[in-house]
Amino acid sequence: MGHEIKKYKMLIGGEFVNAASGKTREICDPGNGKVVAIVPESSKADIDAAVSQARAAFDHGPWRQTSALDRGKLLFKIADGIRARAAKLAELEVLSCGKPLAEAEYDIADAANCFEFYAGMATKIHGETMQVPANSLSFVVREPIGVCGQIVPWNFPMLMTSWKLAPALAAGNTCVLKPSELTPLTALDLAEIIVEAGIPAGVVNIVTGPGPGCGDVLSAHPQVDKIAFTGGTNTGRQVMAAATGNLKKVSLELGGKNPNIVFADADFEAAVDGALFGAFANQGEVCSAGSRLLVDRKIHKKFVEAMLKKIPNIKLGHGLEEGVKMGPLVSRQHLEKVEGYVAAGISEGAKLVCGGKRPSDAALAKGNFLEPTIFDDVTPAMKIAREEIFGPVLSVIPFDTEEEAIQIANDTEYGLAAGVWSTNINRALRVVRELRCGITWINTYHPTFNEMPWGGYKQSGSGRELGLYGIEAYLEVKQVNINLDEAPIAWY
Ligand code: NDP
Repeated sequence: MGHEIKKYKMLIGGEFVNAASGKTREICDPGNGKVVAIVPESSKADIDAAVSQARAAFDHGPWRQTSALDRGKLLFKIADGIRARAAKLAELEVLSCGKPLAEAEYDIADAANCFEFYAGMATKIHGETMQVPANSLSFVVREPIGVCGQIVPWNFPMLMTSWKLAPALAAGNTCVLKPSELTPLTALDLAEIIVEAGIPAGVVNIVTGPGPGCGDVLSAHPQVDKIAFTGGTNTGRQVMAAATGNLKKVSLELGGKNPNIVFADADFEAAVDGALFGAFANQGEVCSAGSRLLVDRKIHKKFVEAMLKKIPNIKLGHGLEEGVKMGPLVSRQHLEKVEGYVAAGISEGAKLVCGGKRPSDAALAKGNFLEPTIFDDVTPAMKIAREEIFGPVLSVIPFDTEEEAIQIANDTEYGLAAGVWSTNINRALRVVRELRCGITWINTYHPTFNEMPWGGYKQSGSGRELGLYGIEAYLEVKQVNINLDEAPIAWY
């Protein structure tokens, strides 16, 4: 894999530029530690420059005068640009965040679909006419919020970038987007696509740099009207606190400790597949990962055995290698954090039934690999059942009754996603009704549709992305009242 080391610039005010300080950062392949690209390492001065460009583009630029139809056409062009470069984008995603190529290809295709979904939405942002108790014509118009700061994590870099930019642009906002310092490459390639599509200068600015020093500056910036963040719950708390200075609008997509509940009447084979895919897709580095597997005690032992039989099919390796089903974790630091959870599971008495260690294959030693790991007989109080691990570690918790399953499922500070497996649709719907979370799947796990709202209850976030709901997060609401009575009101 002899890839050239590309030196990237970032996009500020329609120009591709270096960081003001001239500092750079090496982006490393988590599969082997090799440097794959060099990107600008920004600081406050670059965020300030990007925000001022986005501000000017919103307040005085041509974007405000660009019709919804034309905004939509530009977004369709971005989707076409993504498709034209899909193979390269997928490869870059593998080289920076580690996921297997097939998963990266899926993400890139879905990113193009997301731009198309919101391209179509641009002309469907409607107002409403209200019946008011007066001789007045009153209506509501929806307008863009203004300058949007957008902070994106490392687990789905291109997809999360698209979920942020597409609705914001469809609604007529301008944006300053900061990808994760670990995985900025596809966002920088997207910057080229955005310029080629003809988006006016300053409307989209993509700034690369660290969370502390860039992300926090963006969250606190007095000239930013809205901040949209996807990442860990603790960082989300900091973003929300930083946003209070100018009371900017905040939307947060945060972590999860999601229950995947298997009843004894489930389609057994489908549920086994769904449990493994829910836990191990994208190395388990997924906010909606089904990391707590709640299994009816009547089938529990048989179910764990069936999962173990399939574990050898999860081929570990570099994401660009043929047949690989699980890549490395994003960084050495993150691998060590996940290993810390494995140690906690063992010391708290959970039964490690597979994995828990780095692979013995010497060819993988330089990558951040961890074998797919299953703990059985986990109790709800254990750390591995409570905290988001964000790696390939599945905690199996047996239950005896439907009520107990619901109680365990909801016994968490999070409320992002949940799965229910049962051939009894009445039971499945009854359980879904009780679950305190924003995304639920019945007899499946993980499918995510651009058309459907994505987001969490409780400490899994605030607001929704995607679907018709996702555009609301980028719109202000203005009421307009027209007096139809020609006589003076004669109050004084
Ligand atoms: P973070 O939440 O820190 O990272 C997400 C994004 O926020 C990145 O762009 C990061 O930048 C940025 N960021 C970091 N600190 C700040 C800050 N103070 N203000 C504004 N932006 C900031 O996640 P980590 O990478 O540290 O991972 C920690 C844990 O968070 C994971 O183990 C996992 O549990 C969870 N997580 C959840 C995600 C989700 O999809 N819900 C995604 C990623 C992580 P940079 O990376 O450049 O530091």
